[in-house]
Amino acid sequence: MTQSAVRVALVPGTQPILEVRCLDVCYGTSQALFGISLNVPPGAVIAVLGANGAGKSSLARAISGLVRPTAGRVLFEGEDVTGCSAYKLRRRGLTYIPEGRGVFPGLSVIDNLKMAVAQEKRQDRPSAIDRAIERFPVLGIRTNQRAGSLSGGEQQMLAMARALAVSPKLVIADEMSLGLAPLVVQSVFEGLEVARKSGITIVLIEQFVHRALAMADSCVILTRGKVGWEGSAADAGQAVIERYLGEADGAATERVEHGSQ
Ligand code: ATP
Repeated sequence: MTQSAVRVALVPGTQPILEVRCLDVCYGTSQALFGISLNVPPGAVIAVLGANGAGKSSLARAISGLVRPTAGRVLFEGEDVTGCSAYKLRRRGLTYIPEGRGVFPGLSVIDNLKMAVAQEKRQDRPSAIDRAIERFPVLGIRTNQRAGSLSGGEQQMLAMARALAVSPKLVIADEMSLGLAPLVVQSVFEGLEVARKSGITIVLIEQFVHRALAMADSCVILTRGKVGWEGSAADAGQAVIERYLGEADGAATERVEHGSQ
């Protein structure tokens, strides 16, 4: 079993907001994660990278309470939350933005936001919605539009607005840029910057390797369900990317985009 731990800029004596200890995830008889460990300091952005099938989403879902780990622990703000439901974790401040679109396509923008804040106290809901729209002003001119008719980028803005409306402490963003055009990917990253600037810790699961590294403080590269490489994002140079990610879709696309074969 591989065990490793990232301690990025974790000031001695400071508690990580998220600790993953020796996590295994299995789907039936097939094991997806093998002894994953990581520590995430409050306010940090950690990029979780890896080729298709490496286990990124399994890790995201296990942290977020959507998949029950078969071994290991997840600690959030020092408390063991292994096996807690996604609903309970969201109430505690750990929010998952799923791969693709995290919106209800048949509902209007405003109804999507209302649903997101439904678990807040009644008197706090209008201001939570106002804050969400302030963060992503494009939503303000689309309030009555059906979410499914928004552009891909706008739907991701709405997914982020829904996630941030409940003032999370930690956001797990699972491949938010999947299938989006490069310009739209840029606006997704700008949205994540908005979250980071307000002090939210982000676990960034991404296929766009260079963009993820440019934003992240630290990086974990998964290879076949294990930690292949970990360290500061600044140290994850081209040699590391090529060695551990090879021609992963995102890395390849970005090299073409930047004209740097
Ligand atoms: P991708 O970038 O393609 O989404 P990933 O790095 O997120 O990949 P996972 O989706 O976590 O990887 O998949 C890790 C392994 O677990 C893969 O072998 C995958 O086939 C398997 N797997 C994922 N979800 C399930 C499931 N619900 N049932 C069975 N096997 C699964």
